[in-house]
Amino acid sequence: MPLTDVNADVNEVIELARELVKIPSVYMQEAEISNFIYARLDEWGLSPRRVPVENHGPCIVAESGAEGAPSVVLNGHMDTVEVMAGWEHDPFGAEIEDGRLFGLGSLDMKSGLAAMMIAFRNLFDSECTKRRRLVFQAVPGEELDGSGTRTLIKEGSFEGAEAVIVGEGFGGLGAVTNGRRGGAYYDFEVMGQSAHGAMPHLGKNAVVDASKIICALEESELAVSETLKSDAYELLRETQTILQISGGGDSLSVPERCRVRFVRCTIPGGRTDLQTELESMVADLSLVCVVKIEFKGEPGNLYLPYLTNPSEPLVKAAVASLDEHVGSEPVLVCGVSEADDNLIAQELGLPVICVGPGESGETARYHQPEESIETSQLATAVEVYTSIVRRLCGI
Ligand SMILES: [Zn+2]
Repeated sequence: MPLTDVNADVNEVIELARELVKIPSVYMQEAEISNFIYARLDEWGLSPRRVPVENHGPCIVAESGAEGAPSVVLNGHMDTVEVMAGWEHDPFGAEIEDGRLFGLGSLDMKSGLAAMMIAFRNLFDSECTKRRRLVFQAVPGEELDGSGTRTLIKEGSFEGAEAVIVGEGFGGLGAVTNGRRGGAYYDFEVMGQSAHGAMPHLGKNAVVDASKIICALEESELAVSETLKSDAYELLRETQTILQISGGGDSLSVPERCRVRFVRCTIPGGRTDLQTELESMVADLSLVCVVKIEFKGEPGNLYLPYLTNPSEPLVKAAVASLDEHVGSEPVLVCGVSEADDNLIAQELGLPVICVGPGESGETARYHQPEESIETSQLATAVEVYTSIVRRLCGI
């Protein structure tokens, strides 16, 4: 079958994206959008089902194809971050101005979600789904802790999957995200000794030692990849952020405890366990306090970087499809922030990529007021998703 069959209706996908933007869906308040997506898939005859997620609206899952066949998964999140200050357009108005759709989630990622819904419908009960199973997942909670995708991992929705496409479009349709940085979170517990604040020499000041730790952290050498590019199209590098310092009190006493939390954003192929490095950094400071360094890798924190091999059929199919429908070969990039694809790679070891309508440069207003997306990308995104799945099915 010729690939022209994938041609999408430009207005339909833009209208659907607008309908999604008009439904507020800040994380943990996804019930309404989830109902909307269920009803639309149902109306299209695609037999959706709801998968409950604690504290969130349910996931909506739909499937097509032979039971037991290997599957291709389309995954997109329904939730957005909170409404932030600085909006001039109505964040839920879905206004179109100069070819751009404005609204909270227009970019992250209701346009991608709309395109995935339509691509799924177009492929439902097609030549493709005679060869593979196709799974559509709309998930809540991505902006909080990935609870929607975590639930589907536990529920078995990814069983038999050979490829997962997440509809996040960082960098836009000129890029395929085939890797992502991770985050290694650590707490420094600094334990000193209290004394009267007028006689500081009798105590051990935990706040002072904590500040020395922060200064030393700020001087650590951070790695830069020689080959991997970030979604800002620069060489991918480690970064780190001091997230919190707390200690001391209001009385005239030498502070006996202080805690510092920091995160190092790690890169694929680089170090992910910093314990030894941090211990030797602290030892070199000859502090007066005792310091305990604790890795905070509890569920809820994503912490491993991943890289899906460029030679994977999924990556090749994405590159070829973008090349065909966008007209230029995409750049392979690594996302700098953590997202649901980290979870899928880390928990399941599946080949996963992110691709979708999006922006780069100044218009990449992810998690910023006046978020918007160029609407001309949306129909192309439908074609790209359809075409990737068809290639994976050998059509
Ligand atoms: Zn997102």
